[in-house]
Amino acid sequence: MPSTHAVAGMITRLHDPQYARWASQIRRTGGCRQPIHLRGHVHHLDPATGQRPHSYTTVTEPDGILRVPCKTRRASRCPACAETYRADTYQLIRAGLVGGKGVPASVTAHPCLFVTLTAPSFGTVHTRREKNGTVLPCHARRDAATCPHGRVMSCTARHGADESRLGEPLCPDCYDYAGSVLFNAMSPELWRRLTEALRRRVARNAGLTLRELREQLTISFAKVAEYQRRGVVHFHAVIRVDGPEGPATPPPAWATADLLTNAVQHAASAVAVTVPAVPGEPARAFQWGAQLDIREITVTGDLTEQAVAAYIAKYATKAAECVGTLDRRINPLDDLTALPIRDHARRLIAECLRLGAFDELTEFRLIKWAHMLGFRGHFSTKSRRYSTTLGDIRAARTEYMRGEAITTGRLPLFDEDTVLVVSHWEYAGQGFSAGDALLTAALTGTPLPPSWHEGNANGLH
Ligand SMILES: [Zn+2]
Ligand SMILES: [Zn+2]
Ligand SMILES: [Zn+2]
Repeated sequence: MPSTHAVAGMITRLHDPQYARWASQIRRTGGCRQPIHLRGHVHHLDPATGQRPHSYTTVTEPDGILRVPCKTRRASRCPACAETYRADTYQLIRAGLVGGKGVPASVTAHPCLFVTLTAPSFGTVHTRREKNGTVLPCHARRDAATCPHGRVMSCTARHGADESRLGEPLCPDCYDYAGSVLFNAMSPELWRRLTEALRRRVARNAGLTLRELREQLTISFAKVAEYQRRGVVHFHAVIRVDGPEGPATPPPAWATADLLTNAVQHAASAVAVTVPAVPGEPARAFQWGAQLDIREITVTGDLTEQAVAAYIAKYATKAAECVGTLDRRINPLDDLTALPIRDHARRLIAECLRLGAFDELTEFRLIKWAHMLGFRGHFSTKSRRYSTTLGDIRAARTEYMRGEAITTGRLPLFDEDTVLVVSHWEYAGQGFSAGDALLTAALTGTPLPPSWHEGNANGLH
């Protein structure tokens, strides 16, 4: 039930003489749950005449601010903006597979793989396995060993799909928590080394130097990181071969999907990264896990470009909170035992805080990224020539909206080249008061955040 405070706030807003203007601001943020508040102005100045063909200031806006979407990619923070991000990512990935957004359709004929790279094992965890529609026992071992902590390393349960135990170790005291968070920290570097090793391998198979290879082809990548339930990241990547000038040029005939597959297999097993030793922990070398999945993306086959684009876009909006950690930074002084999270996530976070305190490991910034279980990379990345960029997609949308505004008479039409744009903006807060949150949910048909029901709406007024 909304509090009387929230209802009072909502009634005040409804009676505000500027209510209509406020409501239109809210509708334009597309249901954003935590819009950014901006204060400032923009003046378009014609230097020839000294006239101002257009001026805008937030002084006359409700509360003296303009509300703009937060543009987060995280569905847990803002479902509306995350959906925009997901749709943009889908367009970006799809353009690299079938063309569009400046990429020619002939790219469809280029060899292209969908590759899943996993992390190695850090201990036995509860898993759900299915075979021909039947759920198999988790880890049934007839002569199961007993670990040094007295736990039998066997689990005969057939786990349900949503069981919270999934991904958690059979024995938390045996589990290699340090290995898990250090792998997450090193995974972006491991990926970078893989891309380098891949180029070297393709060159070697063709009897070329790297320089000669660049004159014949380019290899493009788009990837997303996904958290497995056990709390380690793995990557899904699209790897494509183009001609020397990128997607608009054909690759040489010898650069087949089979050759690329072979080179990915080789590169994935060859690369490693090392982490220096710290007191109580040996130096370690990390490699990709043995589970490597490589499939060719084709227009007609089992794995179509639509399926791949949808899959990648889906993961682009998820973060570590799917594992049961928090979606915000953790203060090293926080009482970890008080956090509303499961023990497995708590131990992963605690390990980040412990290891992050060693001088030898400061460069991995494990304390800052403890809530991400050590991973500090980007969730979705792509090489320069893969396709268009999210920035270009956003710019196209902004331009479209500006065009809309002009046709509906909100903005005067002017010539960009002859007009000087003077603007100044400052950040003036974020989020909603309890009353505004209630009203926004009603106006935009979006659900209220779960935290709102606990009475802590992130009102900053
Ligand atoms: Zn938002
Ligand atoms: Zn189990
Ligand atoms: Zn044990």
